[in-house]
Amino acid sequence: MPQYLAPQKDYEFLLTEYLNLAQYADIFKFSAAAELVVPIVEAGAKFCEQELFPLHAVGDRQGCKLKDGVVNLPDGFVAAYKKYVEGGWSSITAEEEFGGQGLPEVLNMPMTEMVCSANLGFGLLPGLSHGAYHAISLHASDALKKIYLPKIASGEWSGVMCLTEPPAGTDLGLITTYATEDGADKYKIFGTKIFISCGEQDATENIIHLVLARLPNAPKGVKGISLFLVPKIIPETGERNALICSGLEEKMGLHASPTCVMNYDGATGWLIGEPHKGLKAMFTMMNSARLYVGVQGLGITELAYQNACHYAQERLQGRSLRGAVRPEKSADPITVHADIRYKLLTMRALAQGGRALALEMALKIDLAKDHADADIAEQADDFVQLLTPITKAFLTDSGFEAANLAMQVLGGYGYIREYGMEQLARDVRITQIYEGTNGIQALDLVGRKLPFGFGKYLRSFFHPVQEFLQDEAPEMQEFIKPLRKQFENLQKASLWLGKQSLSNPEDVTAAAGEYTKLFSLVVLGWIWARQAKIALARPEEEFYKQKLETARFVMNRMLPQGYGLLAGLTAGSNSIMKANF
Ligand SMILES: Cc1cc2nc3c(=O)[nH]c(=O)nc-3n(C[C@H](O)[C@H](O)[C@H](O)COP(=O)(O)OP(=O)(O)OC[C@H]3O[C@@H](n4cnc5c(N)ncnc54)[C@H](O)[C@@H]3O)c2cc1C
Repeated sequence: MPQYLAPQKDYEFLLTEYLNLAQYADIFKFSAAAELVVPIVEAGAKFCEQELFPLHAVGDRQGCKLKDGVVNLPDGFVAAYKKYVEGGWSSITAEEEFGGQGLPEVLNMPMTEMVCSANLGFGLLPGLSHGAYHAISLHASDALKKIYLPKIASGEWSGVMCLTEPPAGTDLGLITTYATEDGADKYKIFGTKIFISCGEQDATENIIHLVLARLPNAPKGVKGISLFLVPKIIPETGERNALICSGLEEKMGLHASPTCVMNYDGATGWLIGEPHKGLKAMFTMMNSARLYVGVQGLGITELAYQNACHYAQERLQGRSLRGAVRPEKSADPITVHADIRYKLLTMRALAQGGRALALEMALKIDLAKDHADADIAEQADDFVQLLTPITKAFLTDSGFEAANLAMQVLGGYGYIREYGMEQLARDVRITQIYEGTNGIQALDLVGRKLPFGFGKYLRSFFHPVQEFLQDEAPEMQEFIKPLRKQFENLQKASLWLGKQSLSNPEDVTAAAGEYTKLFSLVVLGWIWARQAKIALARPEEEFYKQKLETARFVMNRMLPQGYGLLAGLTAGSNSIMKANF
C-alpha cells in the first residue's frame, strides 16, 4: 500500500530560509505571510494525508459515472470536496472583496502541491476553479465578477476551461463553436467541446464554463476567437442552461477526474473581455494554469520518491559491495546498491528542486502583481514569463520520470496495482500533454520568450545567475564550478539559436526540446547551489546534511548531461527534417 506524508519541513525551509518571505513583510499581502507558513502547511498536510490520500486508489478503481447527463464522482469525493471548502482552501488567494482571504499565491502553493500528491484526480476540480476565478477577475465586467467570483471563491461553484474541439487541439484557430447575439450583452453558444475536465460533476451546485467560440463575421484563425462565460445554472433565473455532458472519455489514468464531451445547444453565455480577443484573455491566465500543471507533476514526483525510498529501505536483496550492512539478515536493503541510490537521489533532486522552483514562481507572480517598486514588479513578471514553459515542461517530465523510476525501484511490485506506483505513471502522463504539450512549451520558449524584447525576459534569469556565480567562497566552489560550465553552455546555446533563427528557423524548432532540457538543468543547478549555500552553515543537522548530499549529486551526476544536450541541439535540423516517413 502506498503512503504519503506531506514534506512539511521542506516547505518551512524553502519559504522561511530559502525564499526568506519575511523580507517582503512591507508588501500588504505579505505582512503576515511568514507567520502563516507553519499553520497553513500543518493544516493542509493533515487534510491531504487524512482525507484525500485514502481516496487516491479508490478514485482510480471506481472512476466517474455518467447517467442521463449527470456525472457522479467516485465514492467519498463529494464529501471530501465539502470538507475542502469548509476548511477555506478554495478561497486562500481570492480577493477579500469577493469573500476571499487575499493571501499571496506563494502561501497557497504548498497546499496545491500536497493536494496533487495526495489525490491528483481530486485536485483538478479546485485547480481549474482557481484558474477560472483568475480569468473572470482579470477580464470580466464588474457585474459578472459580482455574481460569479464570491461563489467560486467559496467553492460552492466551480469553473472549467473549454477550449478543445475534435478538429482543434493545439491549433485553436480551428475552433468551430460559435456564438450568436441574444439581446443586450447576452449570447447563445452552439458547438461541441471535448476533453473538458470536470465539465460535469456532482460536487458543486453550479459549474461555470469558460468557452472559446466565434462571433458572427469573426476573422478566421486565432484572431477571431472570443471568450464566453456559460453557467450550467443561470444565476438570475435558476434555470438549467442548454449545455449537457454527452460522454465521458475512458482514459489511461486520472480516473477520478471526469473528462467530458460537452454539447452547447444554444446555451446562454456572456462575453468576457473584448470580442475576438478571447485567446489573449485565456493566455493571461495561462501562466498560472501552466504553473499549476507543473505542480501536478511535482506532486507525483514527491509521492513517487517517498514510496520508492520507503520500499527500498525495507526490501532485502543482495549484499553491499562494502560488506554486509545487515549481517543478521538474509540480505541487505536495496538502498546499498548504487543503481537504486542513483534513482532515489534523482527523484529527491527533482522533487525538492521542483518544489523550490514552484514556490519561487508563485512568489514572483505575487511580486509582479503587488510590489510597489515598478522595476521589481516588472523583473518578477519577466522571470515568470520566461520560466513558465520551463516549469510546466520540466516538472511534468520529472513527474513521469519519477513515477517510472519508482516503479523500477519496486521491481516487479512496481508493476502490481496494490503497490500503487503504476497508478502514478498512468495519472501523471497526461500532465506532459494538456495545457499545451511539452513540445509546445519548448516552442513557446524558443519562439516567443527568448527573442522577446531583445532578451529582456532572458536577462531576468541570466543576471541573477551571473551574480550568484561571483561567489568566491572556497566551500562554494564545488557547486559554483559545475553550474558555471552549464550556464556557459546555455549561453552558447542561446546565441546559437539567435543566429540560426535568422538563417534557418527549422534549426530552432528542432533544437527546442533539448534547449528546454538544458535550460531546466541550469535552473535545477542554480536552485540546488542556493540550497547548498544555506545548508553549508549547518552541515551537522540531518536535514541540511541531506540537502548537501543531494546538491552534490545534482552537480556531479545531473548537470553534466548539459554537454550532450548542447552537442545535440547545435547539430542542426538536417537529420530530422530530411528524413522520410
Ligand atoms: C485527460 C485530459 C484532460 C483534458 N482537459 C482539458 C480541459 O479541461 N479543457 C480543454 O480545453 N482541453 C483539455 N484537454 C485537451 C488537451 O489540452 C489537448 O489534448 C492538448 O492541448 C493537445 O491537443 P490535441 O490532443 O488535439 O493534440 P494535437 O494538437 O493534435 O497535437 C498532436 C501532437 O502534435 C504536436 N503539435 C501540434 N501542433 C504542433 C506545432 N505547431 N508544432 C509542433 N508540434 C505540434 C503536439 O505537441 C502533439 O505532440 C484534455 C485532454 C485530456 C486527455
